[in-house]
Amino acid sequence: MGSGNAIRGSRVGAGPMGEAERGEAAPRVRVPFWCANMHETRPSFASDAAVPEFWDCPRCGLPAGQDEANPPAPPRNEPYKTHLAYVKERRSDKDGAQILAEALERLRSSSRPIY
Ligand SMILES: [Zn+2]
Repeated sequence: MGSGNAIRGSRVGAGPMGEAERGEAAPRVRVPFWCANMHETRPSFASDAAVPEFWDCPRCGLPAGQDEANPPAPPRNEPYKTHLAYVKERRSDKDGAQILAEALERLRSSSRPIY
């Protein structure tokens, strides 16, 4: 019977850590955006940066999105969005509102502070 002492994880995480990374140019990714005029722009982002959902088109200033087939509509020509589109676009805000609502509900339903 073995002693069970063989595996001690001495080399956990040993991997190709030191690949040619000189620290001068962070890795970048190019993300294409298209505006309603079908201008394509490809700003580059640091690979660890959050890529925004929309990007201002450098040629005409309209908002550009990552979906070529469905670029964001020019704000001027679309004064009102459908409610659903609005909700989808603002879902992070909605999450925030929901969290707030839950917190308020918890406050209301919980017992009042007792001194
Ligand atoms: Zn444009």
